[in-house]
Amino acid sequence: MTFDPASRIQDFLVFGEFGDVNPSITDSSTYTFLDPARMEEVFEHEIEGCFLYSRHWNPTNKHLAEALARMEDAESAQVMASGMGAISTTIMALCSSGDEVICGRNIYGGTYALLKNLLPRFGVTTIFVDLRDHAAVRAAMTPRTKVICAESISNPLLEVSDVPELAKIAHAGGAKLVVDGTFSPMILSPLRLGADVVVHSLTKYINGTSDCVAGCVISSKAFIDALNDVNSGPSMLLGPVLDATRAASILKNLHSLHIRMRKHSENAAFLAHRLEQYGYDVHYPGLESHPHQSLMRRLMNPGYGYGGMLTLDTGDAATANRLMVALQEAKVGYLAVSLGYFKTLFSMPGRSTSSEIPAEERAAAGISDGLIRFSIGLDANIEHTWSRIERCLEAAGVPTRLQTHSGIE
Ligand SMILES: *Cc1c(COP(=O)(O)O)cnc(C)c1O
Repeated sequence: MTFDPASRIQDFLVFGEFGDVNPSITDSSTYTFLDPARMEEVFEHEIEGCFLYSRHWNPTNKHLAEALARMEDAESAQVMASGMGAISTTIMALCSSGDEVICGRNIYGGTYALLKNLLPRFGVTTIFVDLRDHAAVRAAMTPRTKVICAESISNPLLEVSDVPELAKIAHAGGAKLVVDGTFSPMILSPLRLGADVVVHSLTKYINGTSDCVAGCVISSKAFIDALNDVNSGPSMLLGPVLDATRAASILKNLHSLHIRMRKHSENAAFLAHRLEQYGYDVHYPGLESHPHQSLMRRLMNPGYGYGGMLTLDTGDAATANRLMVALQEAKVGYLAVSLGYFKTLFSMPGRSTSSEIPAEERAAAGISDGLIRFSIGLDANIEHTWSRIERCLEAAGVPTRLQTHSGIE
């Protein structure tokens, strides 16, 4: 049975106070009660349509959360002030002192640093493994393992997680599978594939305009309620609440996500094929040469392509730097971290978003120093973009696979 996240969002209609086509923005931190007894009740348990304080819930955040829950075919969601706010509160909701996490070794640098450096101070330790090696994941499970933490498509190497298989391993050991879906919204629906919790950095594709940071957690109603519990919920008590004005603007952008994802994928696929054809060392999940293309084809929702992210290995950091400067001068895009913007963004993960991961571990995971990560934009004329890229590749002296293999550089 195919699932279409875009039509689920299309059916989500909320009107504003005066029949506005966009829901009204709640410009308040607190809410009045006509009856003191009602206020007590709201402290005890959630009452539909009653709001207490905006760190807990506010109506605008609730609209965005509901639309995101629909996108993932989930019962509930909470929106946060950042993707890291979403990830950290999720891990804190699932783990106590003495518990263990299993995490992919090829993961966003912030998630790595949280699990490696910060959470051990609170007694939560993490084993980093190659999540593509299911025997290694099974071997890393202990009775204290509470969470397996994966990315739907990993950062920066674009490995595709076998979510159904990882869910089986997690559940067999009494653990939960948490999937970061930031690289592939709409393309992959991890909850439908067996994951227990999905987190997104809304900062990236879902908002798509690189004008704010935001995040979300999507899961069962019970999990989201626990996250927001007035007395014990990590979201309520650590307080990474999203501002209502931002929630309103992200909700508007969410309604064009399906069109943007298709165009990002179309442009990235075009460039990936050209790069491969010219012999460059390119990785893109939509290429036949990508080791996980058939897995991805089996798991993905049809119609959104293979995403807008690709990587190019230029051999060494100096070549990568020459290329990135040339690309920026040629107006191909910006030398900047982050992704999911309407313009192309590129950076060297080894020196930026994955620099939290020590050099030896980066090398073991296959993140070479010359690797450039591209988030391909919504360019109207991608042929034209390719002609600029081609000139930059030559000017920067980026070796092709053939040259590397025959030692001509
Ligand atoms: C950016 C990113 C995050 C962190 O999100 P912020 O909104 O920057 O806090 C987490 N995971 C992935 C895969 C990301 O790309």
